[in-house]
Amino acid sequence: MRNNDRFGERSHIDDELSGSDVERDEEEQVWLPTGQSADPAQSLRIGVYICRCGGNISDVVDVERVADTVRLIPGVTTAKVHTFVCSDPGQHMISNDILEENLDRVVVASCTPFLHEQTFRGAVARSGMNPYLYEHVNIREQASWAHKHDPEGATAKAIRMIAGAVGKLRYAQPLEQIKLPNHRRALVIGGGIAGMKAATDLAARGIKVLLVETEQKLGGRLNYLGRVYPSESAAAELVTELAQRVQQDPNIEVLLGWKITAVSGFIGNFKVMAEPVDASTSSLPGVHATVGAIIMATGFRPYVPRDGEFLYRSEPCVVTLPEFVQLMRNVSPDAKTLAYKQQKIRNIGFLHCVGSRQLDGVHEPGPDGRLNTYCSRTCCTAILQQALAVRKRFPQIGVFDFHQDIRTYGRGQENYYTDASRAGVVFFRYNGEEPPTVQVTPSSRAKNGALSVVVKDALTWGRELEVDVDMVVLGTGMMPGQIEDLIEQMKLATGDDGFLQEVHPKLRPVEVAVNGVLLAGTAQGPMNISETLAAAGAAAVKAAAMFAREDVELNPYVAEVDQSLCCGEAECVTQCAYEGALKMVEMEVDGELVQRAQVNAGLCVGCGACVAVCPHRAIDLNGWRLDQFEAMVEGIAADIPGRSCESELVTIH
Ligand SMILES: Cc1cc2nc3c(=O)[nH]c(=O)nc-3n(C[C@H](O)[C@H](O)[C@H](O)COP(=O)(O)OP(=O)(O)OC[C@H]3O[C@@H](n4cnc5c(N)ncnc54)[C@H](O)[C@@H]3O)c2cc1C
Repeated sequence: MRNNDRFGERSHIDDELSGSDVERDEEEQVWLPTGQSADPAQSLRIGVYICRCGGNISDVVDVERVADTVRLIPGVTTAKVHTFVCSDPGQHMISNDILEENLDRVVVASCTPFLHEQTFRGAVARSGMNPYLYEHVNIREQASWAHKHDPEGATAKAIRMIAGAVGKLRYAQPLEQIKLPNHRRALVIGGGIAGMKAATDLAARGIKVLLVETEQKLGGRLNYLGRVYPSESAAAELVTELAQRVQQDPNIEVLLGWKITAVSGFIGNFKVMAEPVDASTSSLPGVHATVGAIIMATGFRPYVPRDGEFLYRSEPCVVTLPEFVQLMRNVSPDAKTLAYKQQKIRNIGFLHCVGSRQLDGVHEPGPDGRLNTYCSRTCCTAILQQALAVRKRFPQIGVFDFHQDIRTYGRGQENYYTDASRAGVVFFRYNGEEPPTVQVTPSSRAKNGALSVVVKDALTWGRELEVDVDMVVLGTGMMPGQIEDLIEQMKLATGDDGFLQEVHPKLRPVEVAVNGVLLAGTAQGPMNISETLAAAGAAAVKAAAMFAREDVELNPYVAEVDQSLCCGEAECVTQCAYEGALKMVEMEVDGELVQRAQVNAGLCVGCGACVAVCPHRAIDLNGWRLDQFEAMVEGIAADIPGRSCESELVTIH
């Protein structure tokens, strides 16, 4: 075999690494960082398992060639291909090899780690290997799927990715999960339908709950609704039923008219402070509590139109949807006509998407400079429910609906559209870039009322139509709640829309990046009641699962300080975005009192910001140490045997 056919030959990019710490081990043809003359690979036995993923990978990537090539990497003693490594036989193969071939490191190259990293960690742990001596390589999403029109490139990329993982594993150290005490009590912030549901579900599992609500009443926005779609049950009854369960449950402590003023600590050990909202009128002292989990159920704010937006607040009969819901809720059962502010209502126009699906250049941003580009999801059905209710209660009233689209998604909701059409609601469709305008009709022309809605109607091929009405209902959407203080205290992430952001919309839909904090209901984004209750139930189950263990177990990927190298400059503490995760402590060194950095493993999220700023390399990240990164980069950059650099280039489509 020629020298440049051996895996690990220095690649062309090494030449560009000025002052590179790389030197060549003549015997193994492996490039090792300076000072690491004893290559750890020489004593390691690494097994590499390459998955065909039933063709998802092997239809593009030449998996046999990948195995033949990575077998040449020093330290790799086994490289095998399997149709489904995640299957029981696939996992048994790994376990048997660990035991029979004395493997001490394992790489699996398969699908996304989101799906199976834990599967394989479990498999290696069951065979007695430390689960953190395992590396996962995603050659499906990142090679075969990303480069499906370039099999050569995808194969070369898969080899390099595995070589990188092997390099990283060479310097891996066994790690243990971090165990912290778990306080079996949850804090639920917000007493709307989401907070009440989460609290009762947790309490039913024997978990103590502290429920804090800023208002004097439980129920949130449901306190302002009448009958709710799709069941047409009375919102008040839903609230009463849940509120009674909350108040009668000995496991739930409720603080009404209170707010959370401070949060610190970490999963299993949050320290919170609650105080009355109106401290000036209350003689009650604040309450300190320790809780293991926090459920954010702070809900939403309805969008409030700017003064003059669609003539809101300049014309008395331009109202928002929540205001109209109140009007209909308060109508006497015997009423034969509908009136508002002494005005008899004969024609009503409902406008969709007010404060939602806003477009740059068409709509004016809010005071925070933000446009609400998202769909509020609940308003289309809520509008049609009201439109239908008007036609049923007051058939003499003309109802006109102005929409971009009708989004009545979900079981039973499309019926409102069908029924409203059958009941005589007249529909107009506008293009989002040309929303309708509301005008005061000159009195000489006014037949039915003083207002008119002017719309370019797509249903009549863009004709400009003017519809006289005497009431306009603005279908206002949902806005994120005003919880900046909590966001700041808990370091929570928000999406572009301003709502609280989950870790992953599908795989971790009610978790946030801060361990132990969960999301319930519309604090996360627009949802109807069913969706809110489902999310709250999911958050409760997640919290309960966390409380099922005596200790909280955390991944060990946290920063670690080498006290012998730390000079107490505290740059790492300045850069740390997670309060309390890193602090300076006083200690005695050689009879002298000095400051040294110390990590709180419960609060550290392993972001690595501290590692990047330490001039003495005194701080490193367990599982992602700098020597591991270097070895990984070297593995990726090394030449692939029998291939020229140019032919390896992966085409990005
Ligand atoms: C006009 C309109 C009509 C609707 N009609 C329907 C319908 O017919 N059917 C349907 O399924 N859905 C409907 N919805 C949607 C429904 O209102 C929501 O799904 C539901 O209210 C969400 O409940 P929640 O608990 O997430 O939020 P909310 O109801 O907003 O409750 C949040 C609670 O948290 C409290 N809170 C906020 N911040 C804090 C804090 N910092 N500390 C402590 N407490 C705090 C608030 O005071 C509030 O009590 C409608 C919405 C609107 C706007």
